[in-house]
Amino acid sequence: MFSQPAEIIYLSGVILGSIVRSIGVKLSGVQRHKDMFSTTESLILLLTFLGMFLLPLLYLFSPWLDFADYTVPHSVLIFMNLTGASLFLLAIWLLWRSHADLKSNFSPAVEIHPEHQLVTGGIYRWMRHPMYCAHILWGVAQALLLHNWIAGLSMLLSQILLLVYRIPREERILAEKFGAAYLNYTTRTWRFFPKI
Ligand code: SAH
Repeated sequence: MFSQPAEIIYLSGVILGSIVRSIGVKLSGVQRHKDMFSTTESLILLLTFLGMFLLPLLYLFSPWLDFADYTVPHSVLIFMNLTGASLFLLAIWLLWRSHADLKSNFSPAVEIHPEHQLVTGGIYRWMRHPMYCAHILWGVAQALLLHNWIAGLSMLLSQILLLVYRIPREERILAEKFGAAYLNYTTRTWRFFPKI
């Protein structure tokens, strides 16, 4: 059973992040449909579910992953907790901003719908993948807050795998749909960092 401040911070972050996510999905009005994900993507998404929820919950509520625990000196622990909590808050804010700006153009899959509009304002003015950036920050926060080699790193590693698979596909279909407007947008922005 969890008892450390880091684990309480982590669990609060997961609950808050999940609430923000479900409000964002609801506001987008996106409908799930058959054939939304390829077999490869479904398998990678299953890994991200393991990394984001299942392994951390096993770590927090069962002794099964105890063999992979590690300890750090107290001063390092304080630093990891503070940085982890700050990055988690930043991740949740970015997740919220990207849902608020993407609106109905959001989809859990890589797809374009007939009324799709290219969003280049709001948080998308600063970077092309703020939502994916939020997932990476969530993964880093998880690694800093859960002191277990498996549960700590599982989200970050599965997200990197997903993004390596997904981003080139997503950018390709956006370029096909929006042509010069999207290519122009890619010259003004970086994927994960504000281009100043
Ligand atoms: N990669 C973005 C969006 C993730 S949601 C981010 O990290 O913030 C995935 C969906 O968003 C995809 O189906 C894609 O078609 C759509 N999308 C991505 N960038 C977009 C943009 N700038 N404007 C409109 N739709 C976009």
